[in-house]
Amino acid sequence: MRLANLDGRLVLIAEDRAVDVEGASGERFSADPQAVYDSWGEFSTWAQGITGGGARFDPADLGPPVPRPRQVFAIALNYRSHADEANFRPPDEPSVFTKFVSSLTGPYGDVRLVDGNVDWEAELVIVVGKTARNVPESSAWDYVAGITIGQDVSERLSQLAGEAPQFSLAKSHPGFSPTGPWVVTPDSVPDPDDLLIACTVNGEEVQKARTSDLIFPVPALFARLSARLPLLPGDLIFTGTPSGVGLGRSPQWFLSDGDEVVTTVEGIGHMAHRFVRERR
Ligand code: ZN
Repeated sequence: MRLANLDGRLVLIAEDRAVDVEGASGERFSADPQAVYDSWGEFSTWAQGITGGGARFDPADLGPPVPRPRQVFAIALNYRSHADEANFRPPDEPSVFTKFVSSLTGPYGDVRLVDGNVDWEAELVIVVGKTARNVPESSAWDYVAGITIGQDVSERLSQLAGEAPQFSLAKSHPGFSPTGPWVVTPDSVPDPDDLLIACTVNGEEVQKARTSDLIFPVPALFARLSARLPLLPGDLIFTGTPSGVGLGRSPQWFLSDGDEVVTTVEGIGHMAHRFVRERR
């Protein structure tokens, strides 16, 4: 099952067609793409019975599939290869920051560059399907509504300027958290713990890895985060990026006006963004 935000309305995606959820359900379920996670069990049972119908759509009209999560978790240094290139020792516990909700944007279109060194980070993003508290690793996937693609866009100068890293702010400029193009339920992919993830800049491959290389895979993240606080329906977890970011390259490479970034995760699809300098 694929769920998207089409012009602000919740839709089910089947191939090149979108089924409006509020209309198809006779208003049983809201058109608000965020509200569905508060009744995820009921919704997913209903949605499995929906086949066919819908209308063709323009992918440019897709917004962030989960537009107003109450909490957005992001994990730093969660691939050994990326910790190495960033000159950090892989952490013993997940290193967690947030991407503030106002930074979310959709899967296609322009992202405004800010001053500094703007970098890419392809990531698998998890969408929480029901409240998770003290969840053991063995049942973690039962709490997942779906997976989607994310970019943890990062401005490196402010991120690394102080003695204590400034992860959350430097990664939360408007547009710095693209997600999409849709939320895919875990049963729609062969193995949600082992997906190819990749990123290109202007057609050149810069990142390519498998999510099975995560230091803290999805079940470990659920267990460790939910031991500290509840994960709420519709929350997002950016699971971390593999090696190949601009910061870790020699010479370093940061985004400039007009650069095109394509982010792909196996079984989900891809996102495409053009980075543009604000004209003053
Ligand atoms: Zn990241």
